[in-house]
Formats: sequence, C-alpha cells, structure tokens
Amino acid sequence: MSYRTEEVAYVQPAQPAASAQAAQATQQRSTAEYRALDAAHHIHPFSDMGALNRTGSRVIVKAQGVYLWDSDGNKVIDGMAGLWCVNVGYGRKELADAAYRQMMELPYYNTFFKTTHPPVIELSALLAELAPEPFNHFFYCNSGSEGNDTVLRIVHHYWATQGKHAKKFVISRKNGYHGSTIAGGTLGGMGYMHEQMPSKVENIVHIDQPYFFGEAQGNLTPEEFALARAQQLEAKILEIGADNVAAFIGEPFQGAGGVIFPASTYWPEIQRICRKYDILLVADEVIGGFGRTGEWFAHQYFGFEPDLITLAKGLTSGYIPMGAVGLHDRVAKAIIENGDFNHGLTYSGHPVAAAVAVANLKLLRDEKIVERVKTDTGPYFQKKLRDTLGNHPIIGEISGAGLVAGLQLAQDPKTRKRFANGGDVGTICRDFCFNGNLIMRATGDRMLLSPPLVINKLEIDEIVSKAKKAIDATAQQLGIS
Ligand SMILES: *Cc1c(COP(=O)(O)O)cnc(C)c1O
Repeated sequence: MSYRTEEVAYVQPAQPAASAQAAQATQQRSTAEYRALDAAHHIHPFSDMGALNRTGSRVIVKAQGVYLWDSDGNKVIDGMAGLWCVNVGYGRKELADAAYRQMMELPYYNTFFKTTHPPVIELSALLAELAPEPFNHFFYCNSGSEGNDTVLRIVHHYWATQGKHAKKFVISRKNGYHGSTIAGGTLGGMGYMHEQMPSKVENIVHIDQPYFFGEAQGNLTPEEFALARAQQLEAKILEIGADNVAAFIGEPFQGAGGVIFPASTYWPEIQRICRKYDILLVADEVIGGFGRTGEWFAHQYFGFEPDLITLAKGLTSGYIPMGAVGLHDRVAKAIIENGDFNHGLTYSGHPVAAAVAVANLKLLRDEKIVERVKTDTGPYFQKKLRDTLGNHPIIGEISGAGLVAGLQLAQDPKTRKRFANGGDVGTICRDFCFNGNLIMRATGDRMLLSPPLVINKLEIDEIVSKAKKAIDATAQQLGIS
C-alpha cells in the first residue's frame, strides 16, 4: 500500500462506498427500539444511567476511515479515534482478515503450560523490533487496566528477586489515569473513582501532577514548575524511605486527565530521581504508544528510558481487546532467571488478538503511518489548531504533539483564569460538538482531540473548523466574544 505525499493525497486504502445507505444496510432496528432496549438492559461505563436513559444514547452503527455513522444516518467525524485507540482508522480489511484466518486456524490456545503459538511469537518479535532497544520481552493481557495490574505484579516480583522485600510502595500522580480495575483505579489519581472504591490496593501514594495552566502559582515558568513537580517525587521518596519504594508510574502525557503535556524539564528529572534511589520507572503508554505523538512510544518523544511500559489501545487499534507490558532487559532478566512468576490470564497472548495486533502494527509500520504523524499530519494538525484557536477569547492553552491535543477553556486566557463552573462549560462545548457531528471529548474544562492516525489534511481541516464552531458557540452562550 502506498500513498502520494503531496497535500491531501493520502488515499484511504480499500475504502468501500461508505454511505448512510451502507450504514442502514445492516441495521436491524429503529433508533427508538435500540434506545429502549439499551435503556432496559445495558449499564454503560462511567455513566449516570438514570440521566442517560431519559435522553437516550447515540447509536453508532458503522464506521469507515475517520467517520462514524449513527442509526439516524448522520455522518460524524471521530476526533477521538474511539477512546484514543483506533490508530489505523475504521474499516481496515487487513485486520478483519487476520482475525478470520486465525479463528479458522486456531481460535484459542493457552500459553500457560509449556505451550505457545505462532501469532504470539510473531507479535513478540515484532514488538521487540518496533520498541526501543532495551525492550525485548512482552507479557500479555486484555486491557490497559490489566496491563497496570500486571505491572504491579512484575514490580513486586522483581524486587523480591533482588532480595529487597521492603520495596513495596508505588508512587503515582493525582489526575493520572491507569484504568478502572481496583489496582488501576488506585494507581490513577481520579478522586471521583476513589470515592466509589470500597478498598484500594495498599502502598500506593500520589504526588501532584505537572499541570501548569491549572496549578502553577506565582511567576514560575513552565520549565520551573515542571521541575518543581518532578522534585515532589524525591520529597515523597525521602518521606517513605527509598528502601520502601518500588516504582513510580506515570503517563508520559496525561490522556484522560486532559492531554496535559509536561514541560521538557519534567521527565529527565523524574528519571534522574528514579535512578538515584533505585526505583523502577513505569511509563503507562496505553495512549501514548503506537504513534500518537509521532514517535512509536511517547517516552521517546519526551526522551526518557522507562523500565516497564504498559501497552493497550493502539496495540490492536481497538479492533479486538489486548494489552501488554514491555519489560526492559534488566527487569526481564530478573524475572526469567528466578523461577515461577505466578501471574497469568486465560487469554494472555490470545491468538486472534495477537494476529490482529501483528496486522495492525504492520500497517502502522509499512504504510509509514507513524512516520507521517511525525513529519506531516502531526505538525499540520498542531499548527492548524494554533492558527485557528490560539487567540480565541476562551482558549487558554493548546497542548499536544503529533495527533493529540488538549484545548484549555478559560475565562481569561491572559491571566490563566479558569471558569468557576469549568466542568459545565466543557459539557456545553462537548454538546455543541456532538450536534455539529464532531466527536470531541470534554474533561472538565479541557477539550480533547486524538483522531485516527490515518487522518488526512482535509479531514484535519474539518475537525478544526467544527471545533472552532463549537467553541465559538460556547463563548456566545457564555456571553464572551
Ligand atoms: C485507557 C487507559 C488505561 C486503561 O485501559 P483499559 O483498556 O480501559 O483498561 C490505562 N492507562 C491509560 C493511560 C489509559 O489511557
């Protein structure tokens, strides 16, 4: 598959007639029927079901490229790649074929008892080729949350193999997101999730996030602020005692927390502190991995070297669930040379998921999709956003790189004054996007974009102009212009 390099010349490969008619073709029921059955029997994640059932969900029936169709035939541009995961875009036959072939040949076999199979072998070798040099071993699971549970299991086993049994504490960050299992939810720093958790994983503590716009006081520059936030890690280690601290975990940039990009001083300082006190450094690459910033992994963008990386989402472009943990050679060696590691999931290395992951990674590599994000569409997207919205009266900051961005809504951009009711303002803006057939997510008072990595420049223009319309409408509703 090849594409021409001139402006807007990217041909979506094998694009069937993606029309509202096509969407209707497989639709079994009317929107009203779907909504009634959904309300009657389906509990949605992270939702107020009472409220949702009164309005009804939008029923998505079909997708192609960067577009979705709902059950009323509306065509919607997906500025979020699903939930940050559909990196190769929708409708790629290569992935469907890989799944079909694998299901016919070997739909399932486990990897527990001295057995393995070709797809998991191919995937592991391919990941070792694509990941930075010291990452040559991978452990599989089914989601990002399970990936971070696995990280905790590896971290604790690792320190046990080193005879350092007291190293139990894991330091994480407020407003980080690491999934919604008990371990993932505890590692994450989302207060509203903690409130609903009857028990938490022990020995997990949080430091403050490197969120300059929202939390910097006084005249600190972004670089000074990021350094100060990194140094909270050192203070926390000294408080707990380095002999008791096992690991630090963070997303290279916070995704669900609002696409918060720390200044360049942050990660080198975090790495220095982890090395100084002999603490494992974990990069949760569930969003950042597989090209989002224009590098294969976001830690490469920020220039640091973690000991473990959590992978999911873009690993299969969301076509089928799969997660993984990548182990740095020195961690892998300890795990390999020290007897049983008592952890695994029935579907660890599932052959169908692995086959889809291989097909997906080959598309990202062979169609040079990641490379294009770095050199072409990513810079174009970032510039277009800044040119169009950089001086908008309610945009305080635009953060991001490659094909991910966070737009800070603000009462007064110049003084970094946030809206008193920021969450409501985000919801207003999100609803304008929704009505304008753009999927843009709101996290509090930040609007988030993370489109499929195959997006072309015309489609980027469409997202940015629809986003501007929604933000203009929001400003107008608030009486700001
Ligand atoms: C989505 C996400 C997770 C959780 O992944 P699931 O597949 O939803 O369990 C973990 N970490 C980060 C950074 C994420 O964005």
